[in-house]
Amino acid sequence: MLTTGPPTRNWAGNTTFGAARVHRPASLDELRDLVASATRVRALGSGHSFNRIADTSGDLVRVDGLPSKIETDGTCATVTVGAGTRYGELAAVLHSQGRALANMASLPHISVAGSCATGTHGSGSAQRSLASAVAGFNVVGPDGEVRRMSRDADPECFTGTVVSLGALGVVTELTLDTEPAFEVAQWVYDGVPLERLAEHFDEIFGSAYSVSAFADWLDGTAVVWLKRRTDRHGTEHPGPAWQGGRLAEGPRHPIPGMAPDSCTTQGGVPGPWFERLPHFRPDFTPSNGTELQSELYLPRERAPEVLAALRGLAGVIGPVLQTSEVRTVAAEDLWLSPAYGRDSLTVHFTWVQDTAAVLPAIAAMEELLMPLEARPLVQRDDLTG
Ligand SMILES: Cc1cc2nc3c(=O)[nH]c(=O)nc-3n(C[C@H](O)[C@H](O)[C@H](O)COP(=O)(O)OP(=O)(O)OC[C@H]3O[C@@H](n4cnc5c(N)ncnc54)[C@H](O)[C@@H]3O)c2cc1C
Repeated sequence: MLTTGPPTRNWAGNTTFGAARVHRPASLDELRDLVASATRVRALGSGHSFNRIADTSGDLVRVDGLPSKIETDGTCATVTVGAGTRYGELAAVLHSQGRALANMASLPHISVAGSCATGTHGSGSAQRSLASAVAGFNVVGPDGEVRRMSRDADPECFTGTVVSLGALGVVTELTLDTEPAFEVAQWVYDGVPLERLAEHFDEIFGSAYSVSAFADWLDGTAVVWLKRRTDRHGTEHPGPAWQGGRLAEGPRHPIPGMAPDSCTTQGGVPGPWFERLPHFRPDFTPSNGTELQSELYLPRERAPEVLAALRGLAGVIGPVLQTSEVRTVAAEDLWLSPAYGRDSLTVHFTWVQDTAAVLPAIAAMEELLMPLEARPLVQRDDLTG
């Protein structure tokens, strides 16, 4: 087992982990001994969280040293994966077997266990979080014993255990629902007015399998990415002019001005689900790499109020924002999911990497949006590390 000194930082570098030790066990027995003998343990996935959720003062455990596993069942209806597996790796194997996951986040670099533990989501008015695909998982509890939790065998408490924020133990493998592989064509529209987005929110977000609107709160427009399943929408775009915007003349990056090389193929070229649903390609740094992020979930029916509030705050948040993404997530029954019990719109902020400058903007934004029943994922106090 590899044991190192105090770990370094999360992906963004805004949090320095305070763990006394970091471990990377190579076998399940090593992991079980470690957990049983430790006083405080926390699992670390790929470290993409911007807050301290993966931190501990005790022992931090990586699971990416355990034997790797990606196994479909006999009917291919589910796949069982090692907890440290990253979505990019899983998706390629699944696709080669003619199978797919229902959705993916904006990046394929993140671990399956860490993503499911936090309710990570993509976009899609009918799509739930990535954790909603979990049919079962194995977890090493405080006594070092391995427990199997499953949707079928534990119907009363299962929905309380999937999004666990790492609090129930160290997950070693997960079983995920799969479906037949599908193709997606990705179209991008520039200059969709935010007023139009607010007035026709459900129509716009219902016009593709997965829709993302990158809002420029200062100039009052959005760049809208439509990810359309070819088996439902064919390969045609909705028209050169659509919802007050115009079809983009070339590929776009979510952050205005950045080269689109790191992004998945646009321009309506059909491709496999896992090469279109994420915004970023696995072999590149996603997003900017120098940033802070925060996000809020709000009731979807309040979209016009939310968009108007943020437009009114443009002068405060605009100067410290790199980009801001509006997405939708369907209601689900996972107790700790931010989408629990309500269809949501999510507003995500990629800030400049200057905590002191960003905190007042987040404070002003929370003051406006918390009364609209916002559920914040990363609050202003979380970004200081
Ligand atoms: C550039 C970028 C883009 C992003 N895009 C999105 C997006 O589109 N949608 C979205 O929802 N989020 C997004 N995120 C946030 C990210 O998906 C979440 O932070 C997710 O938790 C990352 O998974 P991870 O493996 O890095 O988890 P970590 O940050 O490593 O850990 C998160 C939590 O999971 C727990 N955990 C990890 N592994 C285990 C395990 N084996 N057993 C038990 N608990 C475990 C940890 O203890 C911790 O509580 C983005 C982040 C970045 C940096």
